[in-house]
Amino acid sequence: MNPPPVEDNTMSDTPTPVLRDAFRRPLRDLRVSVTDRCNFRCTYCMPAEIFGESYKFLPKHDILSFEEMVRLTRIIVRLGAVKVRITGGEPLVREQIETLVGMLRQIEGVDDLTMTTNGFLLPQKAQALKDAGLERITVSLDSLDDAVFRKMNGNRSSVQKVLDGIAAAERAGLHPIKINTVVQRGVNEHTILDLARWARDKGYILRFIEYMDVGNMNGWRKEEVFSAREIVETIDAALPLEQIERSYKSEVAARYRYRDGSGEIGLIASVTMPFCGACSRMRLSPEGEIFTCLFGTKGTDLRGPMRAGADDAALEQIVRQTWGERIDRYSEVRFLDTPRDPKVEMYHIGG
Ligand code: SAM
Ligand code: SF4
Ligand code: SF4
Repeated sequence: MNPPPVEDNTMSDTPTPVLRDAFRRPLRDLRVSVTDRCNFRCTYCMPAEIFGESYKFLPKHDILSFEEMVRLTRIIVRLGAVKVRITGGEPLVREQIETLVGMLRQIEGVDDLTMTTNGFLLPQKAQALKDAGLERITVSLDSLDDAVFRKMNGNRSSVQKVLDGIAAAERAGLHPIKINTVVQRGVNEHTILDLARWARDKGYILRFIEYMDVGNMNGWRKEEVFSAREIVETIDAALPLEQIERSYKSEVAARYRYRDGSGEIGLIASVTMPFCGACSRMRLSPEGEIFTCLFGTKGTDLRGPMRAGADDAALEQIVRQTWGERIDRYSEVRFLDTPRDPKVEMYHIGG
């Protein structure tokens, strides 16, 4: 049997009591996935062969309204989440997403509100997001080489379109700008140095992500993982690096800075250097299920009870119970031969 939910702050690096899971990991971050749709077809996330014309995305009535998302977020924030990230799918394809930003901004206890986007719609949206209260932004960009980038995004966007989006974010004052880059061996590893130089010159924080076996659709093979170590070696050979401390306890990125003081990069090495011990993230899916792991197999439904009239206390109890029973540590046991159910898809619960 799992230990009961624990709530205390005796070993906390934070001033407020927080909910802890079965391994005593606190709930500190929430990712709100606002849609399962996307205008890109990244091969490692939503490959076009599977997510084609006939793919059935969630019908509108199954997706949470902004009011419902805000209500659930408020409950989860009360239980300890201080960082909220809006994601998807592609969050900017959800109509009036800035309205949600404004509503989330009002929630007391949210210290950090941000968004991960592919950047395509930022030229139209960046200023509205900033005005609504978004503080900073992460834009995904896998290569500055147009052919390589198109190959990775299912030929939905040029590099220039995303650069325009990043420039718009900068003009709007969304700072700092982080760039997420998935590195896949044989696909884009030969372009990472260019990207590092560019991000350093622009003052953006570049975070490389090891290609992960998220979901069940991307045909992941471990041979295609270009490891964090190889990424560091590639960049260090031209731009010398040194490792620095993680910025806070549950930081998932290992950090390196350029020895000449010109900036830093992060490495999210879920495959070769798992960080489950520090994982404090909960994910809310567009249809109102909470997941306690990116590689989860089953969510816990909050929409059903909420639409059936459950009050906040009852919903809070479901969240407490779910987090309290959490024993996820998929990245640490990935290579053990344990049979398990199919995983949730990444586009569903965000990165
Ligand atoms: N559509 C937005 C975007 O791409 O930024 C937000 C959602 S996306 C699922 C969030 C992040 O997950 C992106 O930075 C993306 O590159 C990353 N991602 C998706 N599939 C991945 C995979 N198989 N391995 C590693 N990272 C992945
Ligand atoms: Fe869309 Fe983001 Fe997935 Fe690419 S990684 S398909 S942009 S949700
Ligand atoms: Fe967190 Fe699951 Fe990733 Fe481990 S595998 S770091 S528990 S999301």
